[in-house]
Amino acid sequence: MYLSDHKYTPLTIHSAVIGDVNGEISAVFGKLGALHAKNNFSFALIVGELFSSSTTEGTSNDEQVDSLLDRQIDVPLPTYFALGKRILPDKVAEKLTSDSGELCNNLFFLGRRTTTKTSEGVKIVALGGAYQSELLDEKTSLNEYSPINTEADVKVLKGANNADIVITSEWPVDIRTGSQVAFPGEETPVAQQSVTDLCSYLKPRYHFSTSNSFFEREPFFHSRGEDESEYRVTRFISLAPYGNPSKQKWIYAFSLDPKADLPTTIPTGVTASPLNFNSKKRKALEADPSSYSRFGNGNGQSQPRRGKKARQPPPTPQQCFFCLSNPNIASHLISSIGEAAYLTTAKGPLTTNDTFPALGFPGHMLIIPLEHSPTLGLIKDVESRQATTSEMHRYRQALYSMIAARSKDAPERQKMGAVTWGDQSSWRHSRTLAVLTCAPRYGDERSGRSCIQGRSRERNISCVSNKYGKR
Ligand SMILES: [Zn+2]
Repeated sequence: MYLSDHKYTPLTIHSAVIGDVNGEISAVFGKLGALHAKNNFSFALIVGELFSSSTTEGTSNDEQVDSLLDRQIDVPLPTYFALGKRILPDKVAEKLTSDSGELCNNLFFLGRRTTTKTSEGVKIVALGGAYQSELLDEKTSLNEYSPINTEADVKVLKGANNADIVITSEWPVDIRTGSQVAFPGEETPVAQQSVTDLCSYLKPRYHFSTSNSFFEREPFFHSRGEDESEYRVTRFISLAPYGNPSKQKWIYAFSLDPKADLPTTIPTGVTASPLNFNSKKRKALEADPSSYSRFGNGNGQSQPRRGKKARQPPPTPQQCFFCLSNPNIASHLISSIGEAAYLTTAKGPLTTNDTFPALGFPGHMLIIPLEHSPTLGLIKDVESRQATTSEMHRYRQALYSMIAARSKDAPERQKMGAVTWGDQSSWRHSRTLAVLTCAPRYGDERSGRSCIQGRSRERNISCVSNKYGKR
């Protein structure tokens, strides 16, 4: 369904993932069997609670456990089940111990902290249980079935270095940051920094968890390491329980190809990673307005001149306010992300929402290459340099056409004027700035400066009319 869309290869594996079964074992495997007959899945995953909370009370669910162990419930295809936050029924734990993790034909236990490779070569890393910052009793030893995990477990799992699929009982912190998808549930699931760390370290293709409601975030890309030229993209999906009253998705079919090439450009519809969103770091940046460079600092003061102060080292892409890999960029201002460049409204724009009523947003945009490079000419790869230049040009054309179209339909007094272009490269990241000016008859005929309002008017007007005045 997903990773297969950029390139089909015969290695694509189809699979199904299931949320909490809560003891409805025979019903769930019945439905899974029907879907499997149509889709021919390679394997299935149960990422929530397989057993109900009342298995010790001799209810019908307990009978289901017996039926399962007596092989009276058909498990239609190889199925891996995770450890949730509940203690497993005793007889289940006993059977798993005696049969090395195989509960019955086709049903395998993933364990509290495991790395598993399926026969198709799909690498699954699972962290079960609820996070505990420290064990209450130091002598408490955790076994494979303890529904608890600690920092030490995350450390061990990081040893896997990468994964196709990560399964966790709890959510990563900040996963909803930068997402437009609403979470329909009343309660936001418990989220842990340790899960965030694990996901951003392993950069899996899919990260599955569970919640009361179904949630599928927009895919997000991880920041690249120094020597990486490809982007790792994660899809975070959280399944609702089977039989939930609001009929939320409890089973989800997905595809992946563990050998597929990773994209070298950021695919469309993918956001910057919400993980590593360290709130301390963010606060520090907010407290230091100079870190916003010439975008304006939001408090009406102009920038202190760079004087005797020692020059800062150039920012890395992770610190750069124009790189999408920086988790702190103002992603809500971004209008479009292309293959090689993106378009965003400037922070602290020279023009405001009211300047051009026919436009409906400040006519001060930035066209920014995805690649962190001081000038376009310095983009090393010829192909990507050409792609960047031509896409930035297409964004310019698109802005022209949009303004022409909106101006044409606007009332006489709201007609818009020319676009003033300029190139900038502070933060060692080149970009093109576009400022819309008034139609000459309503502004100053020389520069359109009368429509530029605002706090840093003097400084900015000189920028517009002198430095960026060329077309
Ligand atoms: Zn940059």
